[in-house]
Amino acid sequence: MRVTYDRLVCANCAAPVAEGRCRVCRASRERMDQGPFAGLNPAMLVALMVVLVAALALLAHQAA
Ligand SMILES: [Zn+2]
Repeated sequence: MRVTYDRLVCANCAAPVAEGRCRVCRASRERMDQGPFAGLNPAMLVALMVVLVAALALLAHQAA
């Protein structure tokens, strides 16, 4: 799912973020262009990794 920022107004310059008038606008645009994983914070990713490793360990245990 892609967030549209056509109507988003920058808190810094009060212009539409899509126009990229200031540094804050461009940073916001870049953040939203990073894709589906941009919304995930690092802690969430670490938790996901832990779950994955645990699942693999469980599978390996059952296979043995
Ligand atoms: Zn701005």
